Amino acid sequence: MLYNRRVLDRWPVDTALNTRLRQAVKPKPLPPALAVPAPAFDYIVIGAGSAGCAVVASLLTKPSVTILLVEAGQENEVPEIQGYTQAMNLRGTIYDWNNQSQPQTCMDGQLMPYDAGKVDGGSSSINGMIWVRGNPADYDGWAALGNPGWDYNSVLPVFKRQEQWAGPASPYRGQQGPIYVTTGLTTNPVSADFMSAITQMGYEANSDYNGATQYGVAFSQVNAKPVPPPVYGIRQDSFNAFVAGSATSPQLTFANQTMVTKITFDSQRNVSQVILSIDGQIIPVTCLRETILCAGALRSPQVLMLSGIGDARALKQLGIPVLVDSPGVGQNLQDQLISFVVHPLAKQDPNHFSPMCNNIFTNGAPGAPQTGAPDYEVQTFYMKNNPGFPPNQFAVGSIALHPLSRGSITLSSANYTDPPLIQPNLLCNPQDVQTSLKGLKMVREIANYFEANSDWLSPETMPGPNVTTDQQLIAYMDESSVPDFHYVGTCKMGPNSDSMAVVDSKLRVRGVNNLRVADGSIMPKVISGNTNACSNMIGGRCGDFILQG
Ligand SMILES: Cc1cc2nc3c(=O)[nH]c(=O)nc-3n(C[C@H](O)[C@H](O)[C@H](O)COP(=O)(O)OP(=O)(O)OC[C@H]3O[C@@H](n4cnc5c(N)ncnc54)[C@H](O)[C@@H]3O)c2cc1C
Repeated sequence: MLYNRRVLDRWPVDTALNTRLRQAVKPKPLPPALAVPAPAFDYIVIGAGSAGCAVVASLLTKPSVTILLVEAGQENEVPEIQGYTQAMNLRGTIYDWNNQSQPQTCMDGQLMPYDAGKVDGGSSSINGMIWVRGNPADYDGWAALGNPGWDYNSVLPVFKRQEQWAGPASPYRGQQGPIYVTTGLTTNPVSADFMSAITQMGYEANSDYNGATQYGVAFSQVNAKPVPPPVYGIRQDSFNAFVAGSATSPQLTFANQTMVTKITFDSQRNVSQVILSIDGQIIPVTCLRETILCAGALRSPQVLMLSGIGDARALKQLGIPVLVDSPGVGQNLQDQLISFVVHPLAKQDPNHFSPMCNNIFTNGAPGAPQTGAPDYEVQTFYMKNNPGFPPNQFAVGSIALHPLSRGSITLSSANYTDPPLIQPNLLCNPQDVQTSLKGLKMVREIANYFEANSDWLSPETMPGPNVTTDQQLIAYMDESSVPDFHYVGTCKMGPNSDSMAVVDSKLRVRGVNNLRVADGSIMPKVISGNTNACSNMIGGRCGDFILQG
């Protein structure tokens, strides 16, 4: 097998930062509720990420129930996480699971980064904070696949109650929720000039792509709260939004730096215990009502398989006793790929601080029909001098939103400390190559137009003037495109008739009782956009189902 690390090597880890962060980790005392002889809780939530924290917020509204929230990672109250301008500097640090994909045979054997938050707040604590819901057609599509209760009208109230939109009031937006969302941090001279140039190209301006229509060019919405320089913005991560305010609630026990090794079941297939590993100590915790698995699309299938729920043949090969033969566990992995065109900055705005600037949602060209879900998201990045980004560059990225390639998460061993094998099969469906190629040509035109119609950019350096033919552009994509970390689908929701569906439309795991999955893994199909807001919504929707009984 060919191993190619060029993408990884071009995107180095900040080792000095990581050493500093590691030294700052405080030893964590065992929460008193876990130090008793036989700890037991009504609800056990596994994973304090985007979805898990939203589940906990709902459960906390249920009087007097006890909740255990378990998180493998550390605290997230550090400036490197909370500060807006450092958005993408945490890869490879103690806050990242440090995943790498298997070799991408359809992309020149590249080993791809598969970043995922291992920290309070999960991936919402290390992500780019771009706030995109997706398109109503995405959710109506999930419902049409046999998942009642997931159409846009059903999920819209959850999106609204979770956000505090700083823009004008609208029937589509919420203004009372815990997550502050704004364009205030991305409305800068360069992004304003980009807007006016691109509208001259024929793209329509859109003041709110999470509103009446998703299509058009807009200032990026971010989940960060403006504060004065030099910090500029505070990340609105899911832990701080949904859980931190209830940290002292007698209902809630929060155990971070704690890994779930597996879930056990009684003879009736009810969840019996969740097995924790804390500092090498194994602690079984009894579940009195329900367990909700929210470990994310890479790790929820791992926990299920380690617990005997998965493809029977694969489990037997690893010596794991089979509880439920569920062949869909870990399958249906899908991710969006981002391909960049890069221009050096011809001038810098001394007051500009935001790496994120604009988004365009489109079906491939100005004037293309704006029906259903868009095919592409275009994202611009102004990289003056932000940690985690190359300096003095402007990048325009094309994200092909609806890939047809499908991959998998499988176990590398029966040991919970061994990372799962991540095989997304990026660009292995030939149609995906053509779609991504079309997107790359589109963003090249957009970037060139902006260069010609403003004084911000110098001539293109990537792919560069010598890359002109389709063959060269495809080779460039194989060399330089990266997953957008919107991996989903590995415990997909679906009707009984779908043998690959892992959970039903109420997110209950098929074949056992008292266990739900709620995170990005349950999406049957990736949405038309970034996946954090949707993961929050999935957690909130799961909370509704539990409260409704
Ligand atoms: C680098 C990066 C940039 C991104 N940028 C954006 C963006 O700008 N906008 C956007 O909308 N989306 C973005 N995303 C995607 C988005 O953040 C994720 O889709 C979303 O956070 C996933 O939520 P989740 O609840 O499924 O999983 P997560 O938020 O990852 O939560 C899973 C949690 O479970 C914990 N866990 C896992 N296994 C165990 C175990 N065995 N025991 C205990 N705990 C466990 C993990 O540590 C983690 O905290 C980005 C993602 C990454 C990684």
